[in-house]
Amino acid sequence: MDFSRVELTPDETDYRDRIRAFLNTHVTDEVRRRDRETGDNFDEGVHLAMGAAGWLAAETSADGMTRVQRRLWDLERRRVHVPWVTWGTTAIVAESVRQFGSEELRREVLPRVDSGEVRLCLGYTEPEGGSDVATCKTRAVRDGDGWIINGSKMFTTGAHNCQYVFLITNTDPGARKHHSLTMFLVPLDTPGIEIQGIRTVDGDRTNIVYYTDVRIADTYRLGEVNGGWQVLMQPLSVEHGVVDADADGLQDVSILVHQGTMMATAVDRITELVAATGPDGRRLLDDGSVAYRLGRAIARMEASLSAPTMFGRVAIAQAMRDISPDLMDLLGAAAALPIDAEGCADQGGAEYIYRWAPLCGIYGGTLEVFRNMIAQHILGLGRPHYSPAPAKAS
Ligand SMILES: Cc1cc2nc3c(=O)[nH]c(=O)nc-3n(C[C@H](O)[C@H](O)[C@H](O)COP(=O)(O)OP(=O)(O)OC[C@H]3O[C@@H](n4cnc5c(N)ncnc54)[C@H](O)[C@@H]3O)c2cc1C
Repeated sequence: MDFSRVELTPDETDYRDRIRAFLNTHVTDEVRRRDRETGDNFDEGVHLAMGAAGWLAAETSADGMTRVQRRLWDLERRRVHVPWVTWGTTAIVAESVRQFGSEELRREVLPRVDSGEVRLCLGYTEPEGGSDVATCKTRAVRDGDGWIINGSKMFTTGAHNCQYVFLITNTDPGARKHHSLTMFLVPLDTPGIEIQGIRTVDGDRTNIVYYTDVRIADTYRLGEVNGGWQVLMQPLSVEHGVVDADADGLQDVSILVHQGTMMATAVDRITELVAATGPDGRRLLDDGSVAYRLGRAIARMEASLSAPTMFGRVAIAQAMRDISPDLMDLLGAAAALPIDAEGCADQGGAEYIYRWAPLCGIYGGTLEVFRNMIAQHILGLGRPHYSPAPAKAS
């Protein structure tokens, strides 16, 4: 890993300034306020502006940005809190459409992904379980030269702002589970689809989506019939964060670094507050227990931010869970007030991390499942088994 500081060339400095000017124009306080209110993590105006200015096309195309330009784009977007979730799912699915879609489907979808008019979401999880995506019950049945889909999907984040869903279906209930799946890119305006909103504890909006006799043409199939697992492998690897970062240091080392950076911002703000001299001439930081708890939180956070791939994913979500109660404690009762509430201690930073942390250890796969994957596939500890412990001899 290259840890050296990157010196920007004059062209790169211009590029960064162009990004900043664009983002400062479009990602306003009003956009951020509205995003907190809706929980959408998406803003259509900003998204269409990014499309029109060519940023989306540059990001999805392999040679649209140099490595340094891509890094600048990522960091600057994060700095101003661009609502990002729906673009994240869109970019993942667009790659699968590129690889597995028919010529006709690619023509229908991809240019409008680049312009921002088309967004794509992930329809994997079902009400009865999401950790094992292959146990899919949503059925797709042949109907002449098309398909009829029936079932329901839980947590289809962004569906209400998207035009298509990347849907896992079961096309052969009698087959072994990894041989029973077929993937479709289903237009969300097809009759028979109903989207219902759900708000999570951190304020995010996600959806449950019902599919009742939804008829679609075979053109919307991705990959082979019953060959859905091959289509899913790449997008699942990206979402799970098992892909190594390049060694040039110009990439996040794990997929939850964005969430980790929000934690770091909260920690920085709290450090500033406890190090400030209060009206009584004292600093909270001079209390040994405050210094100890803050130092421990910073050490845990820094370790998690340095951990790569799946390790980082687990470490960041766990660190958020572990340190946010301590951080709130340091500031007292006012730390329980959310952002924008009168009298909130640190602009709601630690309070938000506290509510967000459980979800960061669920979406894209739970902490328990990732711990098992690390144990089995990286540490070679064998498959976990869930049978009850043998009864002790009396
Ligand atoms: C905010 C949010 C957004 C989401 N967005 C999307 C989305 O856009 N699209 C989508 O398809 N899904 C989405 N999800 C769903 C997410 O991927 C699932 O919640 C997750 O995979 C876990 O599935 P589950 O909730 O059904 O829990 P289950 O799979 O039912 O698991 C229940 C519990 O059992 C544990 N468990 C399950 N299997 C094992 C195992 N093998 N070993 C040890 N423990 C195990 C889990 O850790 C968990 O504690 C989202 C979830 C959230 C919270």
